[in-house]
Amino acid sequence: MTQDTSVADTATAPKIGFVSLGCPKALTDSELILTQLRAEGYETSKTFQGADLVIVNTCGFIDDAVKESLDTIGEALADNGKVIVTGCLGARAGEGGGNLVKEVHPKVLAVTGPHATQEVMDAVHLHVPKPHDPFVDLVPPTGIKLTPKHYAYLKISEGCNHRCSFCIIPSMRGDLVSRPIGDVLGEARRLFEAGVKELLVISQDTSAYGVDVKYRTGFWDGKPVRTRMLELVQALGAMAAEHGAWVRLHYVYPYPHVDEIVPLMAEGLILPYLDVPFQHAHPDVLKRMKRPASGERNLERIQRWREICPEIVIRSTFIAGFPGETEAEFETLLDFMREAQIDRAGCFAYSPVEGATANDLPGAVPDAVREERRARFMAVAEAVSTAKLEQRVGATMQVLVDAAPAMGRKGGTGRSYADAPEIDGTVRLLPPEKASRTLKVGEFTRARIVGTQGHDLIGQPI
Ligand code: SF4
Repeated sequence: MTQDTSVADTATAPKIGFVSLGCPKALTDSELILTQLRAEGYETSKTFQGADLVIVNTCGFIDDAVKESLDTIGEALADNGKVIVTGCLGARAGEGGGNLVKEVHPKVLAVTGPHATQEVMDAVHLHVPKPHDPFVDLVPPTGIKLTPKHYAYLKISEGCNHRCSFCIIPSMRGDLVSRPIGDVLGEARRLFEAGVKELLVISQDTSAYGVDVKYRTGFWDGKPVRTRMLELVQALGAMAAEHGAWVRLHYVYPYPHVDEIVPLMAEGLILPYLDVPFQHAHPDVLKRMKRPASGERNLERIQRWREICPEIVIRSTFIAGFPGETEAEFETLLDFMREAQIDRAGCFAYSPVEGATANDLPGAVPDAVREERRARFMAVAEAVSTAKLEQRVGATMQVLVDAAPAMGRKGGTGRSYADAPEIDGTVRLLPPEKASRTLKVGEFTRARIVGTQGHDLIGQPI
């Protein structure tokens, strides 16, 4: 059944032809897509020839419906050439094992399965850019960003399924809700296309991505993709490579499946940088904290990560003086820090947060002891970090420039793969040796590391 979805053409807005085939569920999908198209300022076209692009919402239920859908796609391709396919047939495999629609009509621009408004809109934006009306649009196409233009945070989920005893985030934000993978990848693409050179993946628990939806299969670029950390990282890494950009992972817990991500770092697909909030090393303290992955053998895991990817940089945060922490438990933490050689570590003296269950635990550590332990921890952490930084002297590193007054003629500041913005150190760039050489914010430069300064490296652009 074909629905008439045409509306009046206008002279300026891009026009989309739309054919809706199939059952009422498909019709609802069509309505959602059409509503979104109209909300964004697109018009629909009555004819294939008069459109800038055609969307065919297909049905794959019975053979006749499949034939009707494939014929309609063929017609749209012949009359217009730019065709996006969505709906049930888009999810079907062909005889060759690939996507059926792509096998029959390799020229279609994108194929999605059903219920994929965002993926369809992403494909539309890619091929017929969204009309921008500065009087109506309150936000730029990439949304409002508070970061500089060259890096951006990509939030993949909200909330958290854990109940760490010192934390009240779950009571404020609820359980984990993962964003659909198509939405996440669509946002990533828009950010890369807008010039972002470093994408920072964030959430409350990045390694749990997709747990809440049982790793449901979503759609991206016409292909099924599971809502899972590995698939997400693979797709982000591939997209970043196309744009010469970096992907950095934050808030990753040391679950066994994280081991699958480290080889992607060794291959250079994403930055060999892991932000893992360990919080402590003694198993009893971790249990009292109710930390996720508290039963994991973290030292062995870190050693294995370093075997797979020797250049991996690990950042972490810790808490000293948690209720009931004994001197021996604290010493375990210091030993862990020395052995694990955490590249970048921060430490807080435990401070009770109103509403946290840890407040009711026995054995509160006196304020002065908490502070003294924090200082002892930081002394060890800084010794590890300084030794690691010194090992970099003489190396050449890729640096993303964050600041470069006077085109970098007086030097500038940047970061290597080992430095996340705001929380880690920087690479202080010396003025380039050649007068003609400039530095630009948001561009990469190679730098020879010539020294260290506190938490920072000093680099000579080459
Ligand atoms: S600290 Fe624990 S409970 Fe709080 S957000 Fe992180 S994992 Fe979830």
